[in-house]
Amino acid sequence: MTPTQFQQAVLAWFDHHGRKNLPWQHNPTPYRVWVSEVMLQQTQVATVIPYYQRFMAAFPDVVSLAAAPIDQVLHLWTGLGYYARARNLHRAAQQLVADHGGEFPRSVAELETLPGIGRSTAGAIVALSTGQWAPILDGNVKRVLSRCFAVDGWPGQSAVLKRLWALAETHTPAQRVADYTQAMMDLGATLCTRSRPDCPRCPLQQACKANAVGEPQRFPGAKPRKVLPRRQGWLLVATDSEGGVLIEQRPPAGIWGGLWSLPQYESEAALRQAWGLSESSGEPLEPIRHTFSHFQLELFPLRVASTQLAPGEVREASQCWYRVDQPAAIGLAAPIKAFLERTQATLAAGECATEVV
Ligand code: SF4
Repeated sequence: MTPTQFQQAVLAWFDHHGRKNLPWQHNPTPYRVWVSEVMLQQTQVATVIPYYQRFMAAFPDVVSLAAAPIDQVLHLWTGLGYYARARNLHRAAQQLVADHGGEFPRSVAELETLPGIGRSTAGAIVALSTGQWAPILDGNVKRVLSRCFAVDGWPGQSAVLKRLWALAETHTPAQRVADYTQAMMDLGATLCTRSRPDCPRCPLQQACKANAVGEPQRFPGAKPRKVLPRRQGWLLVATDSEGGVLIEQRPPAGIWGGLWSLPQYESEAALRQAWGLSESSGEPLEPIRHTFSHFQLELFPLRVASTQLAPGEVREASQCWYRVDQPAAIGLAAPIKAFLERTQATLAAGECATEVV
């Protein structure tokens, strides 16, 4: 199959089966395309749509996003995960306003200088909002190309990535670039899926080398496995008599950077020392386990009543009492939010049952 035949097959399929009614496809300005692309980086379309609509209602353009407090941006991101994406969006919006008068640069190279925008996202912004020639290579396109051309190896390796980019460049047409780009993303998302590719309905089936050998799932090659290291932390779950839980804002860098969470310590002894708690006070709650891309986190919550805390400890401006039944509009780390919702009934029961020592 020549590149022209490949393009024709993909575009003909798009005309009949491609997605044409997604919220960001209406009025596809660079800003609207950019936000959708960033949200879609680790998340599926169906999940993204309501987040996208809320985000656009709050920040209809780059100027309003740049002017917003980061807490408001993170709040609207709560549940989407990978919060560095939201922080980069905010920083990039501020950079666009400061350096580009709130306008998006027109070239892929200039877009790539903005925080959180790699070559594929920059290509998608250019292709989808202007129709200019710009290849993309997101996860979906990597999968389709690596299968169609039987590209061995994990795309995280530079030689494999280089080969895939070369294929993306060769096969991106000069005309109908936006439709082709959307079509390749749709093909990967709907037919050439990770575990169950629907080859009989695929427009590339006749040419696809992975289909010919009968092993599409072998491509793209898997990342070499490594055992994730474990980290542990101890959480203070201090409750007041009205069902409020003490939370604090985390430092801007590191996990859940800038989000609100329960006060966290490296050891139980450090927690007790920080709050003047005796060894036997408090009630251990069910541990929280969360897997990040590069480590596993195990958190041990210790519930105490606010009356058990040493006087004067609740004093930081970055701390507040959070009510699960009347949640404040702040960016709360999703696993902590889920934990508080799970344990709401216990926490709302008022003062901790454990005896004050
Ligand atoms: S034929 Fe199958 S493996 Fe090949 S691109 Fe189409 S869906 Fe993917």
